[in-house]
Amino acid sequence: MTNEDGKVIPVRVALRCRPLVPKEVNEGCQCCLTFVPGDPQVIVGTEKAFTYDYVFDPTAEQEEVFNTAVSPLLRGLFTGYHATVLAYGQTGSGKTYSMGGTYTSAQENDPSVGVIPRVISRIFEEKEKKKNSEICLAVSYLEIYNEEILDLLCSSKDKPALSIREDPKEGIKIVGLTERQVFSGPEMVSCLELGNSARTVGSTAMNAASSRSHAIFTITLEQRRGSDKVDSVISKLHLVDLAGSERQKKTKAEGDRLKEGISINRGLLSLGNVISALGDESKKSTFVPYRDSKLTRLLQDSLGGNSHTLMIACISPADSNMEETINTLRYADRAR
Ligand code: ADP
Ligand code: MG
Repeated sequence: MTNEDGKVIPVRVALRCRPLVPKEVNEGCQCCLTFVPGDPQVIVGTEKAFTYDYVFDPTAEQEEVFNTAVSPLLRGLFTGYHATVLAYGQTGSGKTYSMGGTYTSAQENDPSVGVIPRVISRIFEEKEKKKNSEICLAVSYLEIYNEEILDLLCSSKDKPALSIREDPKEGIKIVGLTERQVFSGPEMVSCLELGNSARTVGSTAMNAASSRSHAIFTITLEQRRGSDKVDSVISKLHLVDLAGSERQKKTKAEGDRLKEGISINRGLLSLGNVISALGDESKKSTFVPYRDSKLTRLLQDSLGGNSHTLMIACISPADSNMEETINTLRYADRAR
C-alpha cells in the first residue's frame, strides 16, 4: 500500500465506533461523538477532532470494514507481503466482534461475521483462482497471557509456555507451536473454533467475560510458481485480538488480576512505541523497540519492513466511556 507519492505506508489506522449497546441505552448514555459524512474524521464533544485513514461510524457493517480496510492487505499477501490486522480498544468496544473471534460455522452467510471468517473465505476463493501456482496454507493460534505464550491449538490440559527463537534464515519462530496444514475453508474455520474455545478469559468488575490476553491467529501462505514450482514465496497474515486497553484503576483489579493488568499494558505500550517508531521517518533507520514485550517480538517480522499493518481502533460512542475513548483516539493517532 502506497500513498500518492508512491511511498510505502507501513501502518494504516481504521477507527471503528460500535453502536450504543442495550445496556448503555438503558442507563441513559448519550453519544459523545460526531462523524463527518465523507470525511475520515471523528469529533469528540464539541471541539477535538481526530483524523484517520478510515473512520467507520456506528452504522458501518462488517462487510464494509472488510472490503475497505482489510481487502487491500489480502491483495498484498498474495503478492508476497506479510500483513497484520490488530484490533485495539477497551474491553467492550467491539474488538472481538470486529475480528470475528467468536465465529462458529453455524453463522455461515450471517452479515454480522467479522474479519477472520471473511479472510478465510477470501483466501480460499483466491487459491481456487490461482491455478498456476501451488498454494499451501497453514494456521497457528496462540495467546499471550501474562507475558507467556500459550498454544491454543494444543489439546493438552497443562500446556507449557512456549519460547520465541530468532532464526537467522526463517526469522521469528515459536518453539513447539502447533502449525496445522489446512486444505479447505471449513478446516481452517474449525481451527479457529478450537482455539476460541481454549482462550483464557478472566472476569473483572468491568466486564464479566473480559479478555485479558492477546490472541493471535496466524495464516501462513506458501506459493510456488513457475512450471517447476521451485520458486517459493512465503507470506504470513497475523489477525490479532488485543487485550483490553482500559486503565487498571477502573477494573478494581487485585492480586493476580493486577499482575495481568501490568503485563498486558506492557504489550500494548511497546506496540504503541514500535508502531510510532515505524511511522516516524527520523527514527526508522535507528531503533525500533521490538524486544520490549512478547507481543512485539512475536510480530517483529510482520510490523514494518516487508509488511502491511492495519490497526482497527475500536471505541464505544457512550459518554460514560469518554475518557477511555479519548485514550484510544490518542493511541491510534500516534500510530499514524
Ligand atoms: P471487546 O472484544 O472489545 O471486549 P466485543 O466485541 O465483545 O468487545 O463487543 C462488546 C459488545 O458490543 C458485544 O455484545 C458485541 O456484540 C457488541 N458490538 C460490538 N461492535 C458492534 C457493532 N459494530 N455492531 C453491533 N454490535 C456490536
Ligand atoms: Mg473481546
